[in-house]
Amino acid sequence: MNYKILALVLIGLIFLYQLAVDCLAMASARRKIPENVADVYDLPAYHRWLRYFKEKTRLALLRHIAAHVTTLVIVAFDVYARIANALFPEGIYGAALAVLAADMVISLLYEIPFDYVNDLVIEQKYGFNHMSSKTFFIDQLKSLLVGLILTGGLCCLFILIHQTLGNWLPLAFAGLMLLFVLGAVFLSPFFSKLYNKFEPLPEGTLRDRLTALLTENGCTVKAIYVMDASKRSSKANAYFTGLGRTKTIVLYDTLLEQMNEDEIVAVFAHEMGHNKHRDTLKMYFLNAVNVAIMALLAWGVISIPEIYPDFGFLGVNYGFAFFLMASVGMSFLSPLTGLVFSALSRRFEYGADCFAAERGYGQALISALKKLARNTFTCLTPHPALVALTYSHPTVSQRVAALEQVGGQT
Ligand SMILES: [Zn+2]
Repeated sequence: MNYKILALVLIGLIFLYQLAVDCLAMASARRKIPENVADVYDLPAYHRWLRYFKEKTRLALLRHIAAHVTTLVIVAFDVYARIANALFPEGIYGAALAVLAADMVISLLYEIPFDYVNDLVIEQKYGFNHMSSKTFFIDQLKSLLVGLILTGGLCCLFILIHQTLGNWLPLAFAGLMLLFVLGAVFLSPFFSKLYNKFEPLPEGTLRDRLTALLTENGCTVKAIYVMDASKRSSKANAYFTGLGRTKTIVLYDTLLEQMNEDEIVAVFAHEMGHNKHRDTLKMYFLNAVNVAIMALLAWGVISIPEIYPDFGFLGVNYGFAFFLMASVGMSFLSPLTGLVFSALSRRFEYGADCFAAERGYGQALISALKKLARNTFTCLTPHPALVALTYSHPTVSQRVAALEQVGGQT
């Protein structure tokens, strides 16, 4: 079997799937708006939304074409092997890191222009972007550095494990990845401090109401913070972060600006629902499935050394193994895992909405969801197939319908 042809076929299939998803997104714009969310946009706002949505979907399509054509060219013309063989004809670590660095730099070359147009042209035009081009480029640089350190470090550990443990690699790698994911959960408050500032929520009726809600439901948290999300975007949100005693709640300053107190408490109650239902933990275990698949793929690409000469390498290249695992293997499986994951995530969202509604915040949450949809230019009419394949949240209309049902029963 020629592994290069197999990889090219898989990348081609991933490309076709992505094109189908983009077509579904484009088709979503022409669908009729459901009755229960008809009041989200008035006519001028609807036309503005439509223009915004079309510009965004067109850009996403171009981005995907650029990404997949680049990957196809890289694989077809042995680009990474040429780089690695020229720079590090000997040695395992250098050759692996050269491939990883090349992959990261090449993807940045086409990601940055698309991100730039998305954030500083389209989002700017519709008033969502608050980021200066300086913040944009500093963010890109930080992400590149974090990415290089994390992926490079992981790859080096991977090589070390394989060299010392041999066939125990999949198990050790799975354990390592799980630690990594858990570490990311613990470290995410630290990482977000790289990008944003956090201030404690000032005293007042809002803080009293949130604290009361926490106590009533037996939740203990370390602190409630307000994050300066308005620095980048006008989009509003809130989340719980950390585990156990280090648990903190983060409210976007944009949420406080755009919502009235009832709506903020309702959004907060929804987040608390996730917390009470241990949804983050459940997602963590689901990620373990992903990790297991990745470990199997890693074992596959490492235990077949014949793969590498097909791509122009002199021997096994661990960096390229990472590339095959992530950009080919995992990407090929992602429609399937995405289908399951997004379905579960949507269930969690219904559960969290229900939690808020049962505490008397159903109507306030409906009003908050509609306001969020209006303020973020949410698509009210996504194609059902698109929702099934990619949506982590049910549509606004579905959520409103479910909330009305719970509200009617209590
Ligand atoms: Zn949620």
